[in-house]
Amino acid sequence: MHAAGNHASSNNPDSLVIGVDVGGSGIRAAAVDQGGRVVGTIHRMDSTDPDPQQVLTAIHQMVEKATPASGTILSVGVGIPAFLRQPGGIVDQSPNLRRLDGWKAGSEIAAALSLPVVVANDADAAAYGEAWQGSEDQGPLVYLGLGTGLGGGIVIDGHILHGAWGMAAELGHLTVFADGAECGCGAVGCVEAYASAVGLLRSFNRATDALSDAEFINRYGDRAGLTAERLYSIAQQGDSNAVAVFALAGRALGIAICQLLHTVNPRVVVIGGQVAGAWPLFEPQMIAAIQRHSSAPLRDGVTIRRAVLAADSGLIGAAGLAWQGLGAA
Ligand SMILES: [Zn+2]
Repeated sequence: MHAAGNHASSNNPDSLVIGVDVGGSGIRAAAVDQGGRVVGTIHRMDSTDPDPQQVLTAIHQMVEKATPASGTILSVGVGIPAFLRQPGGIVDQSPNLRRLDGWKAGSEIAAALSLPVVVANDADAAAYGEAWQGSEDQGPLVYLGLGTGLGGGIVIDGHILHGAWGMAAELGHLTVFADGAECGCGAVGCVEAYASAVGLLRSFNRATDALSDAEFINRYGDRAGLTAERLYSIAQQGDSNAVAVFALAGRALGIAICQLLHTVNPRVVVIGGQVAGAWPLFEPQMIAAIQRHSSAPLRDGVTIRRAVLAADSGLIGAAGLAWQGLGAA
């Protein structure tokens, strides 16, 4: 991580990059300056299960919309929820956007925009955003994004840890309970199976399995219509089943974090994504599990915090990676 503003490309204050965040239900984009500030507004376009051509068209339109009248766009950073092969940003597999499998995203987006393009896994981009903009984060940073699934990223010395072919830090699939619940990846006991939106809902369905349909509807409403947000409000009202599900998520997260403390020796662990909004409901069990399962020399001195960029970590981080690609962030 380097201080912004010391490099050649910062000379022109109108120089900007565009950050693009491709999500499961839509695409967001904004112009971002070298200090990480959004210039103008964040634009959003809904899309459901797009194919590569549709994503390309959407990115093209969003980049045009996000380009201010007076700015010069130097580069574009794109975060994609997928197992990406690096270098080159090739979609190996996207569990939530299946039609993108095999897409040569990096080269095709660059050709469509006629601009330098950096493509990153969405959680890697979010990790980079938190490392870039979180002022205290000089050391290794571990990011856990609790969304529909659970994404992860590790930033060391200002660079994303890519691994051999780009797929390092798939932290959602760290095993936290041997013989635990089934995960969407096909394995069992992954932290994602407990601490993601989908995992929380599955835990809740297991916890309420003994209730008849009538009892369930009477207490919680329609089972099919239950969302993580609704589960959060049910827990806030003190319902013991919902409270236990968030507590279990906290314990699972704490155990996953212990594995990361012992592997990476990070200075900071950041929890982001929509489910991080339920922080008060899972934090006590998360901290207790960290105390219980980690060694003090690796635990003491670590900061565990929520994402400073909240819902925009991935968008700002993708823009930060575009700046980094220009040698400027
Ligand atoms: Zn898994």
